[in-house]
Amino acid sequence: MLPVLLLALQAQNFDLVLKGGRVIDPKNNLISVVRDIAIKDGRIAAVHESIADSDARRVVDAKGLIVTPGLIDLHVHVFHTINNPGSWAGDLSIPPDTLSFRTGVTTMVDAGSSGWRNFEQFKTTVIDRSKTRVLALINIAGHGMVHDLTEQGDFNAKRVAELAQRHKDVVVGIKSAHYTKPDWTSVDEAVAAGKIADIPVMVDFGYFLPERPYWKLLLEHLRPGDISTHVYRAPVPWIDDNGKIFSYLKQARDRGVILDMGHGGGSFAFRNAVPAIAQGFYPDTISTDLHDGSMNNTMQDMPNCMAKALAMGMPLEAVIRASTWKPAQVIKREDLGHLSTGAIADIALWRMDDSPAQLVDSHNAAIPAKGRLRCEMTLREGRVAWDASGRMGTDFKKLNGRYGLRKGIDSYIVPPSQ
Ligand SMILES: [Zn+2]
Repeated sequence: MLPVLLLALQAQNFDLVLKGGRVIDPKNNLISVVRDIAIKDGRIAAVHESIADSDARRVVDAKGLIVTPGLIDLHVHVFHTINNPGSWAGDLSIPPDTLSFRTGVTTMVDAGSSGWRNFEQFKTTVIDRSKTRVLALINIAGHGMVHDLTEQGDFNAKRVAELAQRHKDVVVGIKSAHYTKPDWTSVDEAVAAGKIADIPVMVDFGYFLPERPYWKLLLEHLRPGDISTHVYRAPVPWIDDNGKIFSYLKQARDRGVILDMGHGGGSFAFRNAVPAIAQGFYPDTISTDLHDGSMNNTMQDMPNCMAKALAMGMPLEAVIRASTWKPAQVIKREDLGHLSTGAIADIALWRMDDSPAQLVDSHNAAIPAKGRLRCEMTLREGRVAWDASGRMGTDFKKLNGRYGLRKGIDSYIVPPSQ
């Protein structure tokens, strides 16, 4: 078998080979093993213990780096418009390409910034024009997240489901968020839309009111596969008087409800997360709730959220799984989040930074870091989309005055051969 395999490899001419990195690809059960990864026409062409340099147009030395699938951030706000000052469907959102690739993120899931009245605008102005892969949850409320939802009037399960079915390629779920009333209308309408379109619902519970306790959300209103984001938010009951995790959280997990970090500007408390993770109860998915407020506060970005999980004792491979393959499964996009041969070549290369640091939650509580991933390089569909340490550059002296213009992800797969 082996000689045939090697012959097949040698017959190919790869665009790029990532050489000697320590690969963590949870879907394929590759956990910190050294592999070469070859890329051809935007896809992963081979993952092998050794691929010859001569087979590749370009080789990147990945020794000492960790190589993972490109991250999937399950909760962001990227409906950046000039409308709606101070709103998530406005200038609280950020243009996706400004923070994605430099943090190893290749797929962002916008969590209901737009609703059924303005999703088409979001699609044409952001989704279709971003180099980052942007997928969306459509808000059950007509205009999405302009402000907190104080009324029921504009929920429309049928319209949301119709839109989701028309744009199956980019719509991966439904969102309910920031509902201020004591009834379940927002959640139940979102679930009704999710049933019609057969896609998951994500709930940002927002206001914790005695009339609608959180445990009822997890055990009675959400379906298996639906997502509760902001799961470590301060008002969520996590730990009983004996220091143990409340049983309703375990029951929720047993019935398949997804518990998502969704750090955000004010929704992450070590007080809840530290004892939960110490008891081996990890988040299903790690996500940022990225917006203008959270990115410049203690959330920062995906690698910082992942560093917090690491610092609390979650193993590195579990952290990578919760940021790649698991979110892909949650949004039913199993073509993403792994490094299988034939898969889309969305890949991130990392250096582990062990310098001393504190990591801080939404309430200014701190714990010591145990390593932070720093993104060295990101590939989006095989193209170099981020190159922090100039690995794709050529020694100044060797160019002998032959100056072409190096362009970004728009226009090349790898620079022309020297
Ligand atoms: Zn959010």
